[in-house]
Amino acid sequence: MIKVVVIGGGPGGNRAASRAASLGAHVTLVERDIVGGAAHLWDCIPSKAMIATAGALNFSRRMGGLGFSPATRPREIDYEALRDRIGVVSSRLQSSVEELLTSQGVRILRCEARLAGPHTVVVGAEDGSQEELEADAIVVATGSRPRVPDWASPDGERVLTTRQAYPPPELPEHLVVVGSGVTGVEFVHMFSSIGSKVSLIVSRQHVLPHKDAEVAAALEDELLRRGVQLFKGARAQSVERSSDGIAVHCDDGRTVRGSHVLLAVGSVPNSDRLGLENAGAQVDKWGYVTVNHHCQTSVPHIYAAGDVSGKLPLSSVASMQGRKIAEHIMGLHTREHRHIDYDKAASAVFTEPEIADVGLAEAEAFAGGRKIRVTKVPFGSSARALINDDSRGFVKIISDPATGVVLGGCIVGSQASELISVIALAVTVGLKVTDVVESCLVHPSLAEALADAAE
Ligand SMILES: Cc1cc2nc3c(=O)[nH]c(=O)nc-3n(C[C@H](O)[C@H](O)[C@H](O)COP(=O)(O)OP(=O)(O)OC[C@H]3O[C@@H](n4cnc5c(N)ncnc54)[C@H](O)[C@@H]3O)c2cc1C
Repeated sequence: MIKVVVIGGGPGGNRAASRAASLGAHVTLVERDIVGGAAHLWDCIPSKAMIATAGALNFSRRMGGLGFSPATRPREIDYEALRDRIGVVSSRLQSSVEELLTSQGVRILRCEARLAGPHTVVVGAEDGSQEELEADAIVVATGSRPRVPDWASPDGERVLTTRQAYPPPELPEHLVVVGSGVTGVEFVHMFSSIGSKVSLIVSRQHVLPHKDAEVAAALEDELLRRGVQLFKGARAQSVERSSDGIAVHCDDGRTVRGSHVLLAVGSVPNSDRLGLENAGAQVDKWGYVTVNHHCQTSVPHIYAAGDVSGKLPLSSVASMQGRKIAEHIMGLHTREHRHIDYDKAASAVFTEPEIADVGLAEAEAFAGGRKIRVTKVPFGSSARALINDDSRGFVKIISDPATGVVLGGCIVGSQASELISVIALAVTVGLKVTDVVESCLVHPSLAEALADAAE
């Protein structure tokens, strides 16, 4: 029986463990925190649980348009109940992953692991004892942690990393967010919705620098409408803490004052102290484990999945890598096996309006001199959007003018993170715009806007 040891129980690790066990491997999963990983404990799940509450509150503010009188609308959240709710959602998901793995016969060890050699993983218990696990294949899925810039010292009170904000000890009166990528703007959305004043330090000229400019502009309009202050073209370079607040000093001479500061400036891989050098597996200059298209490291039977592999830092991608790794270990890659095409991974920004995209972007096509057809439809012409009293946003579809094949798309608006699945499927399997147009969709539905945009 093939012996597999997986280090890290996040989406990459638990998926690899589950799939390998289902294919007949003897699997041990070593996790030092919780099975489910940072994704369940700090990142995707708690942030989206908090955003669900923020969304409900925002919805209640718009209920006048649906015929409710102001007196019947909730106005504020119960901060303690919110904290409890986040914990409940995370622990339910953790239990369901653990139950699945246990039912598949995966041995789960709760401790720190490191590699002692190409086939040996050493695990340590709290009492100081150690166990050596021999493996035919090893999966490193240790994730990443928030990057802390050298000019800041998070204290969990006023100077916060993203892991100290679900929610922080008290609702910030005025939160200053440093970093305007996906994580930064999601926190801006959460806190500006639940009652904090929010300022955002944007180092470039617009938020979400890697997204479609039109998409970023739509989000900025919404944030400004909500009273969020944007400090554009400013790089934070120091933070000062006093008894009742913080001051962030920027390189252009501006100082942004608030009650709390949240650092959302990227992540670093958990590849240090793992003993990768004992096994001969290489990392790049940033510490990401170097992998090929099968997620194999420089040592073929050692694999890396998820954030530590330096590909797209998304749970969905980590999970897909875990699945593919398990199939490769078990020899299934010789059958109907497709490599992961990272350019076709769908992603979403859970702000309001939501943003989602997949595949080729307009700017990328222009930069590469590629001819594309761009079609766009606003939700203002969608019956369902009008019924829901929320017609913000649009759908944009990018296709090949010669063949009609859908190459990419982006959506801004309610439920964009769900609707993008249709375009993602089209991009992945190579559907044409006519395939989307000729699908007889539900009426009235937001998805109809996709067919209209493909027309
Ligand atoms: C605020 C925030 C929100 C996010 N929201 C989303 C989202 O909505 N959707 C999305 O797709 N992605 C989201 N992401 C990204 C997503 O969380 C990561 O891409 C995903 O968690 C990566 O999964 P992973 O398996 O690589 O590792 P992780 O989830 O980071 O898990 C790694 C695990 O390995 C364990 N570990 C590390 N070292 C060792 C060791 N030596 N021994 C034993 N165990 C070890 C850790 O304890 C951890 O549990 C978000 C990220 C952040 C920061």
